[in-house]
Amino acid sequence: MAQSEFELIARYFSRLGADRMDVRISVGDDGAVVMPPPSRELVLVTDTLVEGAHFPVGSPAASIGHRAFAVNLSDIAAMGAEPAWALLALTIPRYDEAWLAQFSRAAGDLCRKHGVLLVGGDTTRGPLTITVTLAGIVPVGVALERKGGQAGDAIFVTGSPGDSAAGLALEQGRLHVADAMSAQILRDRFLFPTPRSEIGVALRGMASACIDVSDGLGGDLEKLCAASGCGAEVDAAALPVSEALSGAVGRELAREYALTGGDDYELLFTVPLARLGAMNNAVARGLGPVTRIGSLVAGGGVRVFARGGVMQFSGAGFDHFAR
Ligand code: ADP
Ligand code: MG
Repeated sequence: MAQSEFELIARYFSRLGADRMDVRISVGDDGAVVMPPPSRELVLVTDTLVEGAHFPVGSPAASIGHRAFAVNLSDIAAMGAEPAWALLALTIPRYDEAWLAQFSRAAGDLCRKHGVLLVGGDTTRGPLTITVTLAGIVPVGVALERKGGQAGDAIFVTGSPGDSAAGLALEQGRLHVADAMSAQILRDRFLFPTPRSEIGVALRGMASACIDVSDGLGGDLEKLCAASGCGAEVDAAALPVSEALSGAVGRELAREYALTGGDDYELLFTVPLARLGAMNNAVARGLGPVTRIGSLVAGGGVRVFARGGVMQFSGAGFDHFAR
């Protein structure tokens, strides 16, 4: 890498995120040295975004910077860990200062909000591809897993799933929404998803199983069910669809977006009935937007109950009114 390019990287990536006292050596050496607290476990996650596959070609640099870290923060949250240190492997077609400034500012804003410091990375030239690796801290033995849910447990989801998939459809011109305000809200839900770090940490000792919704609520619930060895029943009327989404596409289609969309980066988790009181207290104390949508049941598979029938989830989507 040429010297000027290195200076560019140093300018945009050497102090990105929160100040952390537990980082001894950071960007600028051959490796980063961090000091995990004693008797804690580290949770390690990584996710890659490829232009044209994970975001539309020509997406705003700020959105790409935000999402690259948000998707990893969401995985850390789903494990019930506190995000701490990040690495960034950045492949860019050219050194575009304005692009780098917007990308790094948005990434930095999100990292600061979540207590994360970027401690190293790699920068190469090539088709736009961003890989973030993130480490989180959790007390020994309490990390949340996809397994652990049991028949009878209540199923909850954060936020309003489906918005992001509609936002992406708007970005790609596959969906048209008359109301400009709703359209902007939905677009922003795709471009700038909200990782649920605080909720993930609060769910330790409370949730029996947890997964983050990246591929669509129905499919990800199916994964949680498979890992937990049970099935799920979801009440379609309980799905927390946003006003922006149901206003834009109608209630029926909004539910379909919520169940089969994707890129939500919400948490989907289960709570044993014995801990529902604690869960409701946490909500009353301001845990954040969580909604009960159904229950785990014996058996397998995901069924959604709606007025007029039952939808059975099957791999790619839902078969309407399968009995
Ligand atoms: P080396 O060739 O020894 O790997 P690099 O030139 O790749 O050195 O990186 C120099 C320093 O800059 C390292 O500390 C590396 O972690 C950091 N770095 C490079 N690119 C990035 C990036 N995109 N984000 C954060 N740190 C980076
Ligand atoms: Mg390198």
